[in-house]
Amino acid sequence: MSSILIVPVPPFDMRKVNALVSPVQSTFGLPVHVNSADTVDPSFAFDLYRNQYNSTSIISAFIRQFEKHEGKVLGITSVDFFVPVLTYVFGEAQLDGPIAVVSSYRLDDTIYGLPDNPKLLEERLIKEVVHELGHTFGLIHCHDYRCVMHSSTAVEEIDVKSARFCPACEDRLRMKIEN
Ligand SMILES: [Zn+2]
Ligand SMILES: [Zn+2]
Repeated sequence: MSSILIVPVPPFDMRKVNALVSPVQSTFGLPVHVNSADTVDPSFAFDLYRNQYNSTSIISAFIRQFEKHEGKVLGITSVDFFVPVLTYVFGEAQLDGPIAVVSSYRLDDTIYGLPDNPKLLEERLIKEVVHELGHTFGLIHCHDYRCVMHSSTAVEEIDVKSARFCPACEDRLRMKIEN
């Protein structure tokens, strides 16, 4: 049976990490563990000119580090992620592969000059984590705007969608998990 390992990447907030365990477990119906000992130091992925971290480089480091690991691995951090063609990303995943990474940085209202909203941040983080893990189970972007697999490029779009899979995505996920 598959499982999901959550690996906090510094800097991270352990309360935010722990709050993910139960929703991720119930959404995927798989065992979820947290391992902060085998973490990846993201400093090598820092881009001086952009003042951000290359999420694809962090994924590569995870691939090497968890080469022998069975199941999915999710890196979670609060550094600001980018990929070369985009201003920022909330996360990145290997489609139908073992690794996904998610950052809380752009999900936090305070970076947009708004009041701190920990509850909203937690909801957004759960949605992004489920979305990126969905990609690792082979799910692609969904046209249903309420489905968690709907693509979001701004927090407003994350707020519109739910933390759940639409029936079609749920079916694909179950087939993948059961095979
Ligand atoms: Zn996506
Ligand atoms: Zn869907």
